[in-house]
Amino acid sequence: MKRAEWCEKAGNRKENRTMKRWKKFMTTAGLLAAMAAASGCQMKNYEKIELSKAQESEEGTDDGKEDVKETGNASPDHEAEVPDAQRSAVNAEITKETAPEMEARDEVVYVDATNLNVRTAPRSDAAVAASLNRGAQLKRTGYSKFWSRVIYQDKEYYIASQYLTTTKPVEETTAASSGTTDGNAGEVGLNPEWKYASSSKINSGKAVLYRAEGSNRKGKVVCVNAGHGTQGGSSVKTQCHPDGTPKVTGGSTAAGAVTATAISSGMTFDDGTPESKVTLAVAKVLKDKLLARGYDVLMIRESDDVQLDNIARTVLANNLADCHIAIHYDSTSSDKGAFYMSVPDVASYRSMEPVASHWQQHHALGDSLIAGLKGVGVKLFSDGRMAMDLTQTSYSTVPSVDIEVGDKASDHSAAAVDKLGNGLADGVELFFGN
Ligand SMILES: [Zn+2]
Repeated sequence: MKRAEWCEKAGNRKENRTMKRWKKFMTTAGLLAAMAAASGCQMKNYEKIELSKAQESEEGTDDGKEDVKETGNASPDHEAEVPDAQRSAVNAEITKETAPEMEARDEVVYVDATNLNVRTAPRSDAAVAASLNRGAQLKRTGYSKFWSRVIYQDKEYYIASQYLTTTKPVEETTAASSGTTDGNAGEVGLNPEWKYASSSKINSGKAVLYRAEGSNRKGKVVCVNAGHGTQGGSSVKTQCHPDGTPKVTGGSTAAGAVTATAISSGMTFDDGTPESKVTLAVAKVLKDKLLARGYDVLMIRESDDVQLDNIARTVLANNLADCHIAIHYDSTSSDKGAFYMSVPDVASYRSMEPVASHWQQHHALGDSLIAGLKGVGVKLFSDGRMAMDLTQTSYSTVPSVDIEVGDKASDHSAAAVDKLGNGLADGVELFFGN
C-alpha cells in the first residue's frame, strides 16, 4: 500500500475509534504534527505520536474523578475520555436509574477503563468494593443500559455498563511492568494491510511503542529488535526476498535458497547462555538509554517469547519507526568483535526493491552504530562490516541493520551490556545528527 493510502486508512480508523481522544489532544497533537512535518516525517510520525498521547490521557485523569465524588455529584465510575457534556448526561441517567431492570446474561466481559469502580449496588452512590483496571475479566450475569451485574471474587457487584466490553481490550500490563515509562507505552501489532505483511508467517505477537518524556524529545522512533526469541520460529519458512528471487550470499541459509527459517532460535554462548537472553538484555538497556535521550522506542520483544518472525518485525519497523536495529551475537567463538551485516555488493540484489532504494541508508545507520561502539571502546571486527543477504535487509524500507555486537566468547556481563547500550545509543545520535 502506498503511504498516502495508509495514512488515509489510519485516519479513518481514528475517526471511528478514537475521535473523542483525538479531540481532547488536538492541540498537542497539532503541535507535534507541525514538528513532524518540519522534520519531513509528516503523517507517519503524527499518527504514532497521537497514539501515545491518547494513552497518556487514559492514565492521567483520575484526580478529577475523586473531586466529583466528594461534591456529591454522580460519579463517572471511570477515567475515560468521554467529553464533559456527554459524561454529565450519562451520569445524570445513571443516578436516575437506581433500580434498573436487568436482562439476564451469561458472558465474559472485560474492563476497558482505568480504576473502574465495582459497586455493591447499581447506584452511583453505592459503596465501592473494589477498583479494576483495563483487561480485568469478569462474568456478567445481568445487563441494563447503565449498569451491569457481575461476579467478582464469587460475589455479585455492579459496574457501569459503558466501561465493559465483550472483546478483550489491549492491555497495558507489558509496558507497565517494565517500570520506567508507565502510561507512555502501547502495544502494537502487525497490520495485515501493510506492505510485505502477507509474507510474514508468525505475527500474532505484539511489540510495544514507548514514548519518551521530557523536553528533549527527538520526534524519532527507534525500533529495538532483540534478536531471536520466537518459539516455534525455526520450523516455519518464509520467502527470502519479496520478489521470490534466491539469496545471493550464504549464511545460516545457503545462497540460492528462496526460503529461509522464519526466525531462528539463535546460538548458545560458550558459557551456556542462550543468545536470545543476552540480546534481550542489550535491547532493554538500549531502550532505557534511548528514552532518556528523547527517542521513542518500538520494542519488538520484551520477554523470552514474542510471536513475531523476522518479516513481521521488519514490517512493524517499516511502518512505525524511523530506523531498525536488530541486536545479535555471532556464532563464532573467537571474541572477534562487533560488526554489522552490510548489503552485499551484488548488482541484482542492490537493484531489487526495497533494497535498491534503501541500502545506502542501511549502511549509514550501520556505520553510525559501529562508530558509536568504537567510541566507548567496544572491540570491532575488521572494518565493522560483513556483507550478508538477510531477510531483514531484503524487506526493510527504513534504515535497518542487523548488528552483531559480539560472539559466543564475548563478555556479556551487566557492565559489558551497559557499555554496548551506551555505544549503540551514541550511534543512534550520530545517525540522526543530534
Ligand atoms: Zn543472532
